[in-house]
Amino acid sequence: MALDDQIQKTHEAALKKGELIFTDTTVETFSEDGVEYELRLVPQLEKKPVQASNEESSDKSAKPTNPFLPYNPDLCVTELEKHVVLLNKFCVVPGHLLVVTKEFERQSLPINPSDFAALWKTMTSVHKQKTLGFYNSGPMSGASQPHKHMQILPLEKLEVPPMDQFFVNTKLVPGKTSQLPGLPFLHYGVLFDQEKIKELKEPEAVGEYLVDLYSDLLDSVFENVAKYHLGEGIRLEGPVSYNLLVTSTWMLIVPRKEEKFGQISVNSLGFSGMLLFRSQEDLDLVKRIGYMRLLSSLTYPLPNAEPVKSEPLPAL
Ligand code: AMP
Repeated sequence: MALDDQIQKTHEAALKKGELIFTDTTVETFSEDGVEYELRLVPQLEKKPVQASNEESSDKSAKPTNPFLPYNPDLCVTELEKHVVLLNKFCVVPGHLLVVTKEFERQSLPINPSDFAALWKTMTSVHKQKTLGFYNSGPMSGASQPHKHMQILPLEKLEVPPMDQFFVNTKLVPGKTSQLPGLPFLHYGVLFDQEKIKELKEPEAVGEYLVDLYSDLLDSVFENVAKYHLGEGIRLEGPVSYNLLVTSTWMLIVPRKEEKFGQISVNSLGFSGMLLFRSQEDLDLVKRIGYMRLLSSLTYPLPNAEPVKSEPLPAL
């Protein structure tokens, strides 16, 4: 059965059985400097169980639960060699997939070639809609589960995530780690060499190619984040948190300094230009302060950046 059909069949059966919780949302677009961001209100988000990233939990008596080991078979779409593809139990976009390692691995570890192959194979097997792949890694990334899982979100009506605009506006050399003019915080992006992807064809080979590009981006991130902390006189401890976004044409990594602005928790989706809100007040707050200012408050400054001269963000 084609993956699209498998996803739909699993979604319908899990919904009927009460194993998948679908929440209806409302979406507003917010225009800033020519980019149309998507602001999605999910009031029910508050009802979702909050699972602390228990990797570094200080409460030794708390028994960490892992929803991916064992995983819920009613949410399983398909099995790959080393991964299982699950539906996101708390679903706001039908077909939101998790690509989870069969054996426990930490979410703070880098994605390896077999992870990337599994992500790419799954992304390229979804044909009904365009998709966005992402990975929230580390305590400030917005991840809630410590077991390694990449995610794939169908883009519904969109062809590309809003952040694509920053790639479109720039002439990039395929395969070269680059910074995107217009993004006011530390980030590294790369455009894929489409000829190479066509040549490599097999997901395993493409996975190897993408992992090489990703490793280059990560090296630049680690180097710059370490420099920033050395500059502050603070030793960098623990894993560097970051968000990774993957489309069919580019990849972007944004290292994270903070997880939240007030009550607004931001993960990779926020850096793709799509934000989820629990309340209208939070949504309105972002419209007031601006999308890029919100993202800037959660990230590191660009290397050699001038201090920001705009008005300070409101205290919360
Ligand atoms: P993150 O919050 O980025 O770590 O992603 C973890 C995702 O797993 C969240 O979006 C949750 O909605 C989802 N989730 C939580 N429990 C389960 C479960 N038992 N089965 C499938 N997905 C789950």
